[in-house]
Amino acid sequence: MHNENQALIFELSKEGRVGHSLPVLDIPEVELSELLPETFIRKDSPELPEVSELDIMRHYTALSTRNHGVDSGFYPLGSCTMKYNPKVNEVVARIPGFAHIHPLQPEESVQGALELMYDLQEHLTEITGMDTVTLQPAAGAHGEWTGLMMIRAYHEANGDFHRTKVIVPDSAHGTNPASATVAGFETVTVKSDENGLVDLDDLKRVVGEDTAALMLTNPNTLGLFEENILEMASLIHEAGGKLYYDGANLNAVLSKARPGDMGFDVVHLNLHKTFTGPHGGGGPGSGPVGVKADLVPYLPKPVLEKGEHGYFFNYDRPESIGRVKPYYGNFGINVRAYTYIRTMGPDGLKAVTENAVLNANYMMRRLAPHFDLPYDRHCKHEFVISGRRQKKLGVRTLDIAKRLLDFGYHPPTIYFPLNVEECMMIEPTETESKETLDAFIDALIQISREAEETPEIVQEAPHTTVVKRMDETLAARKPVLRYQK
Ligand SMILES: *Cc1c(COP(=O)(O)O)cnc(C)c1O
Repeated sequence: MHNENQALIFELSKEGRVGHSLPVLDIPEVELSELLPETFIRKDSPELPEVSELDIMRHYTALSTRNHGVDSGFYPLGSCTMKYNPKVNEVVARIPGFAHIHPLQPEESVQGALELMYDLQEHLTEITGMDTVTLQPAAGAHGEWTGLMMIRAYHEANGDFHRTKVIVPDSAHGTNPASATVAGFETVTVKSDENGLVDLDDLKRVVGEDTAALMLTNPNTLGLFEENILEMASLIHEAGGKLYYDGANLNAVLSKARPGDMGFDVVHLNLHKTFTGPHGGGGPGSGPVGVKADLVPYLPKPVLEKGEHGYFFNYDRPESIGRVKPYYGNFGINVRAYTYIRTMGPDGLKAVTENAVLNANYMMRRLAPHFDLPYDRHCKHEFVISGRRQKKLGVRTLDIAKRLLDFGYHPPTIYFPLNVEECMMIEPTETESKETLDAFIDALIQISREAEETPEIVQEAPHTTVVKRMDETLAARKPVLRYQK
């Protein structure tokens, strides 16, 4: 990389250099003070960098190559499903009839877009086994909060104001207790048993009159299918609570099993995970929520319906929890998910599940001799290994993750779930080839050998990246985001 590309854009600045050429002014020049009140006229220069178009192109092109994404390399971030985003999704999302419409256009002029949204709702209803789906929420956590607000409205409509507690397993994704808290509930934690599943005795201990809901991730974050779901469902329902399914990652049950059939009342999906919406850079997500019939009155409004004269938004929903998002959700992500579902078809979606599970089990078995396997059983779409053995040699899981960067990989999720020491949570996804899986496994095996023979190589990694090891706490808590001379 050329040195100039490592300089900040401000450091490349040369007084008087410009990146544009505008035609000579051919209208009378007017003093700003004739147009604007004095207070609005800037006195100081905004201090923008002065660079040529070529300078700026090289600068940002060089910066863009420092990113890691699914289009540049393997990204096995557990729970987050960094699968390939098919480019046909992008082509469809850019069709002018989808890309250039405005949410305030009259309904009769956007019937095609509304039909796509309606059909997507129907597909997701079928996939989840629920009675209907709303597309409004903008992310998984937003879907969780929306679902919990509906559960809260349901209990309040029944006069059950004393149902203030949401039960969450200790292996749950961090957004679950956070959403429950923001929705005004108190979180109660249930333990996992020695098999990594929800401990039924502990669940019996905490369930009661004050239970509003149980939130369950299945397969859980250890990649294990909760075997006692039907028993849990009847425990919660008998106590008068509702069952919430965190379906952010549906890669292990898609076209195989349905939350609705397991007794769940609410489920959210992450279209930006399972359904191939590009994500990871803070881009728009979509977290549709499916509900059973008795929660339908509380759906966010407006509700998209199909009438005699076409599709329309129904605002006449007196019991609705209200809007949860301006307009109607992140439409562009819905177009991509719809395209994906239609491209795959039911058999294709079934193959997704089978291959996701096969890939994860293949990796787990090949890694098992080299790392500790806290739960030695078949996994679903992801699995956890532990770096306990390497820690005894002075090499932490964080070091292993940093060393993976030298091999060109994004590290897996680490130190989560919290109930596994020195945890690495690996989700290969179904879109990767056996060669890619093998190369990644070989890298991890090599690192485990280095931990024994030359631990300093791992402890001091990464060696090949532009930025070496950072103080992660300081970088997160006190980031310096702007240029200071
Ligand atoms: C990603 C994820 C979430 C949160 O989804 P966001 O879109 O990031 O808000 C919730 N639960 C599970 C299991 C997840 O993997």
